[in-house]
Amino acid sequence: MKFYNSIVFKATALVLLLFTIFIIFNYDLLSQNLILYRSFLVFALICLVITIFTTQRVSGTIFKISKQVEDYTNNNYSERKNIVGNNETTLLYDNVIKLGEEIEKTQDTLESQHNRLNGILTYMTDGVIATDRRGKVVMANAAALSMLDETEKNILSRRIVDVLGLAQKYSFRDLLTQSPEIIVDRENEMGEYVSIQLHFALFRRDSGFISGLVVVLHDVTEQETAERERRLFVANVSHELRTPLTSVKSYLEALDEGAWKDPDIAPNFISVSLEETNRMIRMISDLLTLSRMDREDMIADKEVVNFVAFLHFQLNRFDQMSATTGLDKTIKIIRKIPFNPIWIEIDTDKMGQVIDNIMNNAIKYSPEGGNITVSLEETSNQLLLKISDEGMGIPKKDLPKVFDRFYRVDKARNREQGGTGLGLAIVRDVIKLHDGYIWASSDGESGTTITIILPYNPTLTQEVEEEDDWE
Ligand code: ADP
Repeated sequence: MKFYNSIVFKATALVLLLFTIFIIFNYDLLSQNLILYRSFLVFALICLVITIFTTQRVSGTIFKISKQVEDYTNNNYSERKNIVGNNETTLLYDNVIKLGEEIEKTQDTLESQHNRLNGILTYMTDGVIATDRRGKVVMANAAALSMLDETEKNILSRRIVDVLGLAQKYSFRDLLTQSPEIIVDRENEMGEYVSIQLHFALFRRDSGFISGLVVVLHDVTEQETAERERRLFVANVSHELRTPLTSVKSYLEALDEGAWKDPDIAPNFISVSLEETNRMIRMISDLLTLSRMDREDMIADKEVVNFVAFLHFQLNRFDQMSATTGLDKTIKIIRKIPFNPIWIEIDTDKMGQVIDNIMNNAIKYSPEGGNITVSLEETSNQLLLKISDEGMGIPKKDLPKVFDRFYRVDKARNREQGGTGLGLAIVRDVIKLHDGYIWASSDGESGTTITIILPYNPTLTQEVEEEDDWE
C-alpha cells in the first residue's frame, strides 16, 4: 500500500491543513501577539503528535487484522497476532479470531464428512457415478469403474449416456425426467456377460436448481442368470414331459378306437406306452432328487467307509445285473482298484447313485464287446476315480455341457434310449456336495472318460487301521 493512501498520512495532512487555514484567517492576531503565536504552535505540534500516534496504532491493528484474514485464506488458523488494547479495533480483531475458529471447525467437519463419504464410495460394492447438470461425468467410484472396465481418466468429462451405452435409446433429459430403471447387459474383459441394473437420482440445491445426476450401478448378473435358468428349466421340463405324454395319449387313443382288438399292434402300443410312462416316472424322480439338492440346507449324510470295498460292491451289482437281466450286448468291466483299503467320509446313498448314473451311461453308449475300465488312485490329499468306456465318445464342444440339466448330445437318439438328460446333472451336484470335482474327457470319436476327484485325508485310513489292529 502506498504511504499517501494510509490513514496516518491522511489524518496528518488534514490536521496540517486545518492549522494552516486557522493561521491564514488569524494571521493578524497571531503576528501581533508572540506569546499567543508560540502557544498556538506548541498546541498544533501536540495535536499533530497525538494524531500521528493514534492513527499509527489504529492502522497497525487494522494491518494485523488484515494479515490474520490473509492467514485464514491460506488455511493457517493457528497463528495469532499480538494485539493489546481495549477499543473498537481490538474488538474487531477478537471477532475475526472467533470467526476464524468457526471456519476452522466447519472446515474440519466438512473434511471428515468428505473423507467418510470417500471411504463409503470406495469400499461399497455398488458403483456410483455423479454428473454435472449437463450430464458430464464428474465422479465415479472404484466399483463403477470396474463394472464398466473403465479408468477414471477415461470416464471423467464424458457424457453419461455414452459411458453407459444408452445414447441410442435415452437422452440425458430422459434420465433426468423419467429416472427409468434400466438393466444393461455387457461383456466384460474376460468375455463373460454381466447384467448391471441402473438407478438414477437427481440432486438439487436448496434453491431447487438441478445440479446433476447420480447413477447407482448394481451387479445383478447372478439374479439374472438364475432367473434365465429358471425360465429355461421350466420350459425344458414342460417340453420333456409333453413329448412322452403326447405319444402315450396318441397310443391310448388308437387303442381306444379299436386297436386293442388287433393282436399284432396292441401289445406293441401298450409296451411303448409303458416305456414312456416309466421314463416319465424316472424323470420325475430325477427332478425330485435335483430339487432336494437345490435346497440350500441340503447336507450330505456322511459316514466313514472303505471306498475300495464300496466301489467293488457297486460294480458287482453291474456284473450281476448283466448276468440276470441279460443285457443285449456283452460288456466287460475291468477293475484297476488298489488292494489296500482306503477310508473316506461319503454319503454312500448319493455316491452310489453317482457310480450308478456314470456306469449306466458307459454301458448305454458302449458298443458290443466293449470294455469299461474303472480305476482308482490315491494321492496325499485326493482320490482319483476314472470310468472309461469305448463308446462313441462326446464331441469336444459338448464336453462342458453334458453336466447341464436336460443336455443331451444327440437329443433324438438319447431320448430313444430312455435317457432323461438329468443323470450327469445329479452326479455333478453330489460331487459338489462332497467338495469334489468332476469332468468328462473324450476325443469325440472313441470312448469317454469321466474323472472324479474327491478330497482325501490319509490319516483317516491310518486311524481306522490302527483301531482295527487294537480290536
Ligand atoms: P441321459 O439320461 O440322457 O444319459 P445324462 O445327464 O446322463 O443324460 O447325460 C447327458 C448326455 O451326455 C447324454 O445324453 C449323452 O449324450 C452324453 N453322454 C453321457 N455319458 C456318455 C458316454 N459315456 N458316452 C457318450 N455320451 C455320453
